[in-house]
Amino acid sequence: VPVIGVLALQGDVREHAAMVARAGGHAVTVRRASELDAVDGLVLPGGESTTVSRLLDTFDLLEPLRRRLDGGMPAFGSCAGMILLAKQALDGRPDQHQLGALDVIVRRNAFGRQVDSFEEDVDFAGVAGGPLHAVFIRAPWVEKAGDDVEVLATVPATGSTGARIVAVRQGPVLATAFHPELTGDDRVHRLFVEMVRDAATTSETEER
Ligand code: GLN
Repeated sequence: VPVIGVLALQGDVREHAAMVARAGGHAVTVRRASELDAVDGLVLPGGESTTVSRLLDTFDLLEPLRRRLDGGMPAFGSCAGMILLAKQALDGRPDQHQLGALDVIVRRNAFGRQVDSFEEDVDFAGVAGGPLHAVFIRAPWVEKAGDDVEVLATVPATGSTGARIVAVRQGPVLATAFHPELTGDDRVHRLFVEMVRDAATTSETEER
């Protein structure tokens, strides 16, 4: 059973841990570098990316987290987690850390004030069983995705705007602008647990 950490600095940690467990992973909370060393994959929950960014400094987790991501550790970020994993955030604070594990530019609070929060059924590539019910809370979108980034889900155009990218994957890194931990539908977490399993198998094969 893959050991999957949930970054426990802020946000809906408990909900993610419950979903990881339901999806077949062993969930542990991560607040220090030694705990980070012990996981096969990491979930970065939603919350406020500026706050989490600051707490990464406080808990001396920034460099250890960068090192693990550079080493290919699978990661799944939802909402603020997606913002942190991106290489760049528009409308972020200038001192906000970017982990750069995803070759995407995200825009914070992108859907604007009128639609602070909304729910929508989205088709999600690689997830069988029909559309996912997606909950967006002051969500970002992906404004620009690099060539190696797979777009997994979009929400349709509204008014003058085009369709918006709300879920992506790049190798072992998965991110959603919405909150799959809040819906009782564990398919995105199952996909991530599968990604962690695959990564573990691959690295074992390489070691032999
Ligand atoms: N608006 C938040 C941010 O910019 C993200 C909101 C969320 O994670 N639900 O970090």
